Amino acid sequence: MTEPTSSARRRFLSRLALGVAALPLLRVNRAAAAELPHLSPDDPAAKALHFALDAAKLDPKKEPLYQAGRHCGTCALYQAAQASGDWAPCGAFPGKAVPKTGWCQAWAPMA
Ligand code: SF4
Repeated sequence: MTEPTSSARRRFLSRLALGVAALPLLRVNRAAAAELPHLSPDDPAAKALHFALDAAKLDPKKEPLYQAGRHCGTCALYQAAQASGDWAPCGAFPGKAVPKTGWCQAWAPMA
């Protein structure tokens, strides 16, 4: 009868230990996010996805995938929780920060 409770307690303590062990890693990731280099539109990966620093300046005739209201700040890949000012990491460009005003062809709606 006490087996399930003991098993559940062990699982809980194991998860708690993992969570505590991960805390320093989370701090490192947040510190690193503030120090990420800003993505340049001249970066080859940025060019491939037509990255622009300011979505408001895009011409929809030249960028048919762009629509008003779409910018990094409204994109599911923009990691706002790790932002430093208006710049944050982006899932499409690992190791780089993108501006909230930016846009690229990988823009995805938030769930
Ligand atoms: S994937 Fe989203 S957040 Fe990243 S650059 Fe493109 S539009 Fe911005």
